[in-house]
Amino acid sequence: MSGHHLATRAVHAGNAVDPGTGAIRRPLVAANSYALPDDPSELSWSGTGTPLYTRNGGANQGWLECKLAALDGGEAAFATATGVAALHAVFFTLLRTGDHVVCSDVTYAATYQLLTELLPAKYGITTTLVDTSDAGAVRAAMRPQTRLVHVESPANPTTKITDVAAVAAVAHEGGALLSVDATFATPVLQRPLELGADLVVHSLTKYVNGHGDAMGGAVIGAAELVDRIRLEAGVNVGGTISPFNAWLIMRGAVTLPMRMRAHCAGAQVVAEFLEADPRVAYVAYPGLPSHPQHALAARTLDGGSGGMLAFAVRGDPATQNRFVAALELITSAVSLGHDETLIVHVGTEGPRVAHYPEEFRRWGHLRLSVGLEDPRDLVADLEQALTLTLGPRPAAAPPAR
Ligand SMILES: *Cc1c(COP(=O)(O)O)cnc(C)c1O
Repeated sequence: MSGHHLATRAVHAGNAVDPGTGAIRRPLVAANSYALPDDPSELSWSGTGTPLYTRNGGANQGWLECKLAALDGGEAAFATATGVAALHAVFFTLLRTGDHVVCSDVTYAATYQLLTELLPAKYGITTTLVDTSDAGAVRAAMRPQTRLVHVESPANPTTKITDVAAVAAVAHEGGALLSVDATFATPVLQRPLELGADLVVHSLTKYVNGHGDAMGGAVIGAAELVDRIRLEAGVNVGGTISPFNAWLIMRGAVTLPMRMRAHCAGAQVVAEFLEADPRVAYVAYPGLPSHPQHALAARTLDGGSGGMLAFAVRGDPATQNRFVAALELITSAVSLGHDETLIVHVGTEGPRVAHYPEEFRRWGHLRLSVGLEDPRDLVADLEQALTLTLGPRPAAAPPAR
């Protein structure tokens, strides 16, 4: 599939005529075990090559992994039960006691939890959090024990952008590997392996599946590295995805390229509407010139700035909640990258928030995952909820923003 364009790979990679039935789609193979060869004594029971046991890798998992590797331009992929299982798989396999990690200071909550609390307490693995949008800060944080640099870009929830190519150079100079959580970007907007990253991690739960009905994660990279991760975190720890979820996600991934274009276009419209409204305190979206890494995003994200943005209305936490409750079309729920637009109000408490920009700490934030609805309907819903919560739009912006 490597000769074809991304949209073509999304449709065809991993699919083929089913030899058993002649069906032109891969079937759902709900089986725990696979027939053993005549002489199984030669088999490696923990092996991942021959089909044996679904924890080691089954049919649907394999077909999905083929599609994911093709989308990200990697040699191999390992599909996991959740995105967090994929992150854990990378950290658990690559790190041991005494090792050091340099990680983005803004990440998904579980990444922060794993690296700053669980891994240090249980295994003596330490992490320095840095602003990875500054490659110089990454270089300054590198130590002789640094085995891994882990970057999330765009970062959840602030949408901070990291220059993956620049950080890959710094990581490799220091003898470390670079893993990139590219859940927000998806392979449609950025392929970190092409920019020098060693591993890319996705929560498939989000855009790749795209329909809010299955959980999954993936690690993609060189076969030697991915095979080690599959053996340690799949075969031996059990983080493998189920056949049904692999089948659903394979189905969802077919339309990822066209869905991402629509998410990006919708988010741009919504972000511009919100930023122009004086009842809105701030908007963080890489597609706005006000975003701190707007130029970097324009240079490094291919064809759009993603479907995720964060903002707050002018008011206290109770006002943010009233605004969310006033929305009629937009659903208040966690997760993101679904077909429907989702919003979640996150407060200003907790140690992670110390790394967020000043406006996030002052107002809290509403994380908005712009779905596939007509953006005009989303704007109308936001407008009516703003009016219900804060009154009609004032003529001019107040001076202090
Ligand atoms: C949701 C998310 C994860 C975790 O994925 P799950 O599938 O929920 O386990 C990891 N990274 C990012 C950036 C996410 O948004």
